[in-house]
Parts: sequence; C-alpha cells; structure tokens
Amino acid sequence: MLTWHLHRGEVPSGRIVTHLCGNARCVASDHLAALTANERGLLKLALNSRADQVTGCREFTGDLAEGYGVVWHGGRSWLAHRLSWTILRGRIPAGMLLDHLCRNRRCIEPTHLRVTDSGGNNRNVGKPTDERLAAIWDHAEGVEGILLMMG
Ligand SMILES: [Zn+2]
Ligand SMILES: [Zn+2]
Repeated sequence: MLTWHLHRGEVPSGRIVTHLCGNARCVASDHLAALTANERGLLKLALNSRADQVTGCREFTGDLAEGYGVVWHGGRSWLAHRLSWTILRGRIPAGMLLDHLCRNRRCIEPTHLRVTDSGGNNRNVGKPTDERLAAIWDHAEGVEGILLMMG
C-alpha cells in the first residue's frame, strides 16, 4: 500500500489497491493495481484456478465444498462458479440454478455454465460454448492477462 502511494498517489474512490500477483508481501509497484470489487473477484478466481487444455474447464484450485469451489468475496462466501458467472455474465435470478454443462463441479468457466430452473438441469448438456466470452476469460491467465483484460 505504501508502495502504491509513493508511485501513484491517491487511490480512486471505490477501488482498492490489490496485488495482481497474489503475494501480499510483494512490493513491486507494477504488480499493484487499484481494482473495482468485480475486478478483485475475477482476479481471485484467476489466481485460484487453472485451465485444463483437454476439457476446456477452468478448475478451481482453492477450497472445495461438496466438490464446488468456495471463495470469499465482498464480505461473504460464494460458490466459485456462481461468482464467476455473476461477474462475467450478470446476476443469477432468484430461484434459478447455475448448471455445469461439463458436469465438472470445480469448473468456473462461464461458457461451461448455464442458468436453469431445477427441472431443466439435465437438458442441453454439451451445448456449444460462446467463443467470444471464452476469449475474454482466456486473458485472465496470470498478471499480464489480468492487466490486458482490464485495458
Ligand atoms: Zn508481485
Ligand atoms: Zn467445465
């Protein structure tokens, strides 16, 4: 935080200085960015997941609950795939489920997810993925990717 103030001055309102590298003890000023809540959430997901080149799944590597990724964000606990969807696609309507088209509970790749009511949980398995969104999400690989993605 001190490093930020020395190099960049005031932090814009609504943003928090965050370590893009995920190392809280790092003092490299170019690893710090003033991020919005959504950007911090996406960064946390990117730092705690890895892409499976075979399946295309982005598997959460942090804590799991019943096979689903769990992440702390914005003062509460989230299921990681629901956080990923909420940030990249928007709010999940009340009463709706977020279904894994890939059947991999650890996957947080939004193109592998689908909002559904409980009755539709088994429909549309294997639906084609949205290539445009997949490309955006691919940019979330590592610190450089996050910076690119944020423009
Ligand atoms: Zn660093
Ligand atoms: Zn998947």
